[in-house]
Amino acid sequence: MSKPKIIWLNVTVFLVTFLIAAIAVPYRAITHGFEAAEIIMAIACFCYCGMSITAGYHRLWSHKTYEAHAIVRFIYAIGGAFALQNSALHWSSDHRIHHKHVDNNDVDPYSAKRGFWYSHIGWMLREYQAHRYNDYDNVRDLKRDPIVMWQHKHYLTLVLLTNIGIPLVFGLWYGDVLSSLLLIGFLRLVLSHHTTFFINSLAHIWGKQTYTDKNTARDNGVLALFTFGEGYHNFHHLFENDYRNGIRWWQFDPTKWMIKLFSYVGLADKLRKSPEDKIEKAKLAMALKTTQQRLTSHPQAEEMLKKLEHEYEVLLAKINEFYALKKQILLNKKQQLVCEVENSELMKQFFELKANLAEQRKNWQLLTTKFA
Ligand SMILES: [Zn+2]
Ligand SMILES: [Zn+2]
Repeated sequence: MSKPKIIWLNVTVFLVTFLIAAIAVPYRAITHGFEAAEIIMAIACFCYCGMSITAGYHRLWSHKTYEAHAIVRFIYAIGGAFALQNSALHWSSDHRIHHKHVDNNDVDPYSAKRGFWYSHIGWMLREYQAHRYNDYDNVRDLKRDPIVMWQHKHYLTLVLLTNIGIPLVFGLWYGDVLSSLLLIGFLRLVLSHHTTFFINSLAHIWGKQTYTDKNTARDNGVLALFTFGEGYHNFHHLFENDYRNGIRWWQFDPTKWMIKLFSYVGLADKLRKSPEDKIEKAKLAMALKTTQQRLTSHPQAEEMLKKLEHEYEVLLAKINEFYALKKQILLNKKQQLVCEVENSELMKQFFELKANLAEQRKNWQLLTTKFA
């Protein structure tokens, strides 16, 4: 079977920008050097591009995990064009298909099962899905967002204005146009491209399957450092409606922190979170499965499996009990249903159950580590 046609525009853009960033930038650094202000500006622009993709294209437009003020959406739209990753409409359409048909080589636009190169960049170099280029059926909701449609219509103009305009203006102001074009224009763009592309390639290859093994997505704290928090991709594929990717407070997810910050100042609203019990149960079931698989070849497998399964059942029951009570208390509070005495009784029960659950979780942790 012959391969689809090469998209020469994409090949040229990726190749030329990469070669300049890999050769001309280091050459300029050695022969001329870069000023701190230029480096800081390049980092700022890199963050602006990256966060426009993660908080805007990804978590806002593709997944609707929160609502954002028009000013914020406008800033994302400009940053997305600066990142040169197609319009928000097109990007989101591709991404929704990626989630719906993840790992399906015929439908997922950047299926990780087709290998690292294909999922990283190869999928953009040939007309693999030419029939879909103008099919925006799965993003009809976004078509109602005037900012999305404005960006889609003027995408090329915005790309040129940001990618040439910003480095040029900064260079003219600072007095070194060439350095600015190299650093803020080319190097920033290439780094921004490949760090985002890593989410489609590396985040489907390297890391832990903490919540599910039904797809190739992985959780990877190291990758999160370079991708503004998107490294927790296994969680994300199972709980795609959650505005967070790294759900623990210590997990590096600046996109999540920024959205939360926006919500404090009225720039974001209706932040969606997945139910805690569902998250915990998914993680638990996955831990059970991997430990079971590990134990199969053990000489005392039967006995150990029995113990493991028993602990799992006990913990699962505790989790159900705990979250049911928590829900009840919240409901009572909301409807002011119970009197003071009943309430304090419920709270007492709640804290007892909480301590109990913590103990049970610890037991489970010890057991799964012991059996590892
Ligand atoms: Zn996603
Ligand atoms: Zn993915």
